[in-house]
Amino acid sequence: MNKKININNKLNHSIINCNNLNLCQRSSLDETIIDIYKNKLKLFEKVLAKNTEGIVITDREGNIEWVNNAFTNMTGYTSIETIGKNIIKLKSKRYDNVFCKKAWKIILNKGIWSGEILNKDKNGEIYNHLLTAYSIKDEYNNIINFIGIIKDITEKKKKEEKIKYMSFRDNLTDLYNRTFFIYKLDNEISKNLNKNLSVLYLDLDDFKNINDTLGHSFGDKVLQEFVIRIKQCVRDIDTVARIGGDEFIILMQQYENKMRYINTANCILNSLRNPIVVNKKKLEISVSIGIAEYPNDGKNAEALIKNAEIAMYKAKENKNIYEKRISLYYSDMDEKIKEDFLLSNHIRYAIEKKELSIYYQPIIDISTEKIVGAEALLRWKHPKFGFISPEKFIPIAEKNGLIDKIGSWVLENSCRQNKEWQDKGYSPIKISVNISVNQLRQKSFPKSVFDILRKTNFDSKYLELEITESISAENIKNIEKILHNLEKLGISLSIDDFGTGYSSLGQLKKLPISKLKIDKSFINDIDNEHNNTEIPLAIITMAKSLNIKVVAEGIETKRQLEFLKDNKCEFGQGYLFSRPVDSTAFEKTLIMQKFA
Ligand code: C2E
Ligand code: MG
Ligand code: MG
Repeated sequence: MNKKININNKLNHSIINCNNLNLCQRSSLDETIIDIYKNKLKLFEKVLAKNTEGIVITDREGNIEWVNNAFTNMTGYTSIETIGKNIIKLKSKRYDNVFCKKAWKIILNKGIWSGEILNKDKNGEIYNHLLTAYSIKDEYNNIINFIGIIKDITEKKKKEEKIKYMSFRDNLTDLYNRTFFIYKLDNEISKNLNKNLSVLYLDLDDFKNINDTLGHSFGDKVLQEFVIRIKQCVRDIDTVARIGGDEFIILMQQYENKMRYINTANCILNSLRNPIVVNKKKLEISVSIGIAEYPNDGKNAEALIKNAEIAMYKAKENKNIYEKRISLYYSDMDEKIKEDFLLSNHIRYAIEKKELSIYYQPIIDISTEKIVGAEALLRWKHPKFGFISPEKFIPIAEKNGLIDKIGSWVLENSCRQNKEWQDKGYSPIKISVNISVNQLRQKSFPKSVFDILRKTNFDSKYLELEITESISAENIKNIEKILHNLEKLGISLSIDDFGTGYSSLGQLKKLPISKLKIDKSFINDIDNEHNNTEIPLAIITMAKSLNIKVVAEGIETKRQLEFLKDNKCEFGQGYLFSRPVDSTAFEKTLIMQKFA
């Protein structure tokens, strides 16, 4: 740098003083100046030669005059092979004359052009570079040279390509993802070349259980193994994508007849006859497959995928009949399946759209007929379909995995509401919240209940969780631990709809249960023509022997109430006292009780 300043100073000094000298002095000075110019040129050349960006200098016709090392390295051509040649000869065939003419025009008019270019080097290797080309003019504004500076951006481009590739791929299985699948399917449909095109929708059965009991990383390995089996059944031209946790879709085309995709589906089904082995553990898994064919079952990707999924639901209904594990879509397919499918999609947004609310039904101490608790009952009011019964949508939410989110929402809002009533000075009551078995299967469930209690500042002794009797058919060991952890938090637990399931006394004794709720069908029997009182009586007696309290559900008549009172059933709920009502109406009941 210092040297450069020195030369510049010398040069300027020499030129300024030049006019005062004689000829002899001048010629020796000219030589000095030339020497200085030469040195300066050499220096510039060295700087340019060492530049990491490729540099090429041409004359005004484009004939190459000079190239640096970086240029020869990038292009693979030596300087001997390039100098004297026209730059056009090095251009890739990728770019037509129109592109080149445009670029030249800009350089000629504006003096500079810059853009990304793909070129082939001498060995035919494609490289990506950023080219900046500009013109050099003399003092009369005539172009005398062109300079091209090229920067190799192949690595950068490779990274960008990888990101693009990843955005079309599923990380776990390396299959395509939903975005790509839809793009590809719509693209194939738009080509409209062959009408033989179908979509297979695959969903593993009870996969959630595997994740819940054996852990997610184990579940991931099961999915990877399953993908290997799928790949053994499809052809190279079929497109396979993973579009959800355990959901896959396959696009099949160019086939002679339906048998092609039916055979593929059968092949996948059969591939699971051998158990999947992960970490030396053998797992029997099964899959449900739905198929929709273009154009009858859908004219675009969205419709085809949706209908293949509906068909898959149908197959899932026949989970235990091997021959019916594959289902073809047909337009008047079971209305119930279509409805479930529709609700399954709508319920995803029910919380965000504020379509859910909680109703409360009083639980009464039968001896005093005072409200001692309330059962929180979820309501879904859809703007188009109106009120939808929880008996209809809870099983759907259990199936599509949304029950955890919905269940937490109910729990948090019920605790918050009850805390508000307590803060307003009404005598404290217990809130009973229904819990799905699917929620209970989560090891983290007690922790999430604890978090909600803390968040809402709600005392756990006022919270009761209702669990359906079907839990006894579950892997009782896992659930037992979870129930004990809940009990440790100070929460009480009750068994709902008791009498409809298969609980054994032995099982009940092991569980930290403080209440049984007799199913309303048995309470109904008390007052009908059969006057069947044996079952409720047996439940009350059995519960007493186990020191468990009893709640009678669905009390509708005075006679039922009298019977329960006579037989020392502790608690009751039913239309006789109140239907489930919204929080405002329930608060009015609390006010009335306060001033009664
Ligand atoms: P459940 O827990 O057994 O709730 C009692 C059901 O009986 C409620 O139906 C209630 O409205 C109804 N009921 C109460 N008294 C009477 C009566 O005197 N006569 C008759 N006929 N019925 C009465 P609902 O609200 O339709 O709930 C149905 C089921 O949906 C519940 O049965 C429960 O299993 C489930 N559910 C409701 N909310 C939730 C929730 O937040 N989470 C979960 N997982 N399930 C819920
Ligand atoms: Mg209940
Ligand atoms: Mg019940």
